[in-house]
Amino acid sequence: MLIVHNYQRINEFISSNSLWSCIMIALDPIEALANLRHEFGEHGGVNMSIEASSTFTVVDSTTMPEIFAGRKGPETGGCYLYGRHFNPTVYNLGRQLAALEGTEAAYCSASGMGAISAVILALCNSGDHVVASNTIYGGTWALLNDFMPAKTGVQTSFVDSTDLEAVAAAITPQTRLLYVESMSNPTLRIVNIPALSRIAKDAGIPLVVDNTFAPLVLSPARLGADIVVHSLTKFIGGASDLIGGAVCASADFIGSLMDLHIGPLMILGPTMDPTVAASVALRIPHLPLRMAAHGDRALALAQRTAALGVPVSYPGLPEHPDHALFERLRHPDYGYGGLLTIDAGSEAKAMALMNTLQNEHQFGYVAVSLGYFDTLMSCSASSTSSEMPEDALATAAISRGLVRMAVGYTGSLEQRWTQLEAALRSTALA
Ligand code: PLP
Repeated sequence: MLIVHNYQRINEFISSNSLWSCIMIALDPIEALANLRHEFGEHGGVNMSIEASSTFTVVDSTTMPEIFAGRKGPETGGCYLYGRHFNPTVYNLGRQLAALEGTEAAYCSASGMGAISAVILALCNSGDHVVASNTIYGGTWALLNDFMPAKTGVQTSFVDSTDLEAVAAAITPQTRLLYVESMSNPTLRIVNIPALSRIAKDAGIPLVVDNTFAPLVLSPARLGADIVVHSLTKFIGGASDLIGGAVCASADFIGSLMDLHIGPLMILGPTMDPTVAASVALRIPHLPLRMAAHGDRALALAQRTAALGVPVSYPGLPEHPDHALFERLRHPDYGYGGLLTIDAGSEAKAMALMNTLQNEHQFGYVAVSLGYFDTLMSCSASSTSSEMPEDALATAAISRGLVRMAVGYTGSLEQRWTQLEAALRSTALA
């Protein structure tokens, strides 16, 4: 009884909060961001202040039980409860991310995995079932394939999320969510979010979409997703200098993550530090420029690489299996994303290509991750998808020689193309 009561009150506080309620869900993402009331710094600074407090004082001690019971919040005569619950700076970043994704609310976590695991744990109880795409980030795959069954008894059926019949057939009465990546890591497949949303709605379950690879390029919630998760570590952070995550969803769902009894963000504590939140908030305004720059450079390199007859995959190329779908779903102003893959044919050839690109041509760095201003390259099967055994890699079409390139925008196009072309020729790929 107490759980329900407290949970509802926290939701009421979030829903009635004027900061969140000013977000216009239907707007274009950058218009929604621009329409947000700006949060000025404490002394009138153009940037918001960092609330560096883990705890919050009350003038009258009788207010504290009211705050813990969920009856009083910052805008209803109380104040914030504790830094692991809501923090004003992190809360403000959440508002920006909600505007970006077109959801009613959002909140941040210490990492993308913190956000993803919180969502799955919030939706599933012991013995429940998940339907997930078979081509997802290796850490998420391990969470669903290994961690959840061992720790909670939650089982996952992995399916080809581009095969809508297979997705619908995998849903059982125990299924609690459908989980996909908008653009899959590392195979860059685009999922049909409106169609998956209809399947999920028919089954009465939420569609959860990881939009880490395509912020702004795709807006899953505007296309029908119920919950959008992000690793802020990637494009949104943009400088490979921090780790963070976010959940964008209804105010009710975000409130449930903070429940004092069973809210995974509150109880498991993957809390975002307010200094990280303030730093990320300063990068959101130029995310549109950065996404467009990543997309322009990746498209040009993919086109020129394809023209050499090298097996390159990029969703902006007409040959890509999901190109037509992507054209229908994407926002036209931000290109086709900043990632491409080259199949070098074998792991040895992939390693040789990456070594040459980094050490002889200064084209980029051999490193995992993406969204950095310089190009990052990794061989997925032996790095960020290495959690997956051989059969799962094969089903997901992640070949041993697949090189994932997260294309940066530093240098000139001609300079970078000269470097890439030389490496492709010297490693006999072209
Ligand atoms: N989602 C995707 C698509 C990723 O590629 C990653 C990490 O590579 C994550 C989630 C996890 O994010 P984080 O490293 O911030 O926990």
